[in-house]
Amino acid sequence: MTIPIFVPHQGCPHRCLFCNQWVTGGAKKIPDREAVLRTVEKYRSSSEPGREIELAFFGGSFTAIDRGIQEELLAAAIEQKKKGFIGGIRLSTRPDCISDAALDLLARFEVDTVELGAQSFHDEVLNAAGRGHSAGDTVAAAKMIKSRGMGLVIQLMPGLPLDSAEKSMSSARSAADLSPEAVRIYPTVVVEGTGLEKLWRQGKYRPLSLEDAVSLCAGMYGVFSDKNIPVIRIGLHPLAPEEARSVLAGPYHTAFGFMVKSRARRSVMEKALRKFLEGGCGRAGGRITAHLPARDIEEYIGHRRENIRYLEKIAGRGGILHEVSESGMVYFSETGGL
Ligand code: SF4
Repeated sequence: MTIPIFVPHQGCPHRCLFCNQWVTGGAKKIPDREAVLRTVEKYRSSSEPGREIELAFFGGSFTAIDRGIQEELLAAAIEQKKKGFIGGIRLSTRPDCISDAALDLLARFEVDTVELGAQSFHDEVLNAAGRGHSAGDTVAAAKMIKSRGMGLVIQLMPGLPLDSAEKSMSSARSAADLSPEAVRIYPTVVVEGTGLEKLWRQGKYRPLSLEDAVSLCAGMYGVFSDKNIPVIRIGLHPLAPEEARSVLAGPYHTAFGFMVKSRARRSVMEKALRKFLEGGCGRAGGRITAHLPARDIEEYIGHRRENIRYLEKIAGRGGILHEVSESGMVYFSETGGL
């Protein structure tokens, strides 16, 4: 379980084009030591015994916050860690706010994981989003974090101005090359009160459609899955109704993560089915069965069996069955027929 402590826009040298943490972070004020202790207590009292708990500072550029405030928050966090109330500390920051001095401080307070808002590995996209750092800064920061033995998580944002499907896919490959411990993918949405809202209202920016975002993020997800890099978040966390109203346009959906993983599973099944058909199987009028890993079987089947129906079109017949694959591999078999 992750206990989020939002530090909205703290430490940010400026406002990036797409960002309004006051809306999407859900926090209404800046936390202090007492807020950290209160929040940990609240989560602990409702968590199941023995559950691993991590404290996470999100929503700003933590390592660029006033040093005294960083120390106050981290001291509260490590106090909870030493008491055994939490198992780990993580925080998020900008790539250009990582330095030896910044990492020395994090090491002193035993921070376990640093999340880097990389967003893209293309400088023209970063410039258009007003990020104020380059892809080179991200690579350098990632290497520094890893050299300290801290966990590295990379956040990517497909669909920014001047981005494209090809660039997003190459950003995913660049991120994977840094061997992060995990990745988060947040397709760009238009949030109220941002520079992106102005561009969108002027007709100068068009967000990805939901379908394009699902398909693109599924491709990016595949890049990380192939390298066994966990994707721990896909799309914004579900927002409260008043927060969701501040998302004016773009691929926001409460089930976005499921949709993306389900699409990625569909391509795995499609490849296996095509191979099965090319091998001369499945043409004799028998019953085709998809053997699917138990753990993710819902994602393989898809919402209302949409993935199975998609496979039925490829196979040119209805009635594809599914069952749990004992080996955990995806494969097809056929029973009956001529
Ligand atoms: S994207 Fe990150 S660095 Fe940019 S304004 Fe938002 S919190 Fe700050």
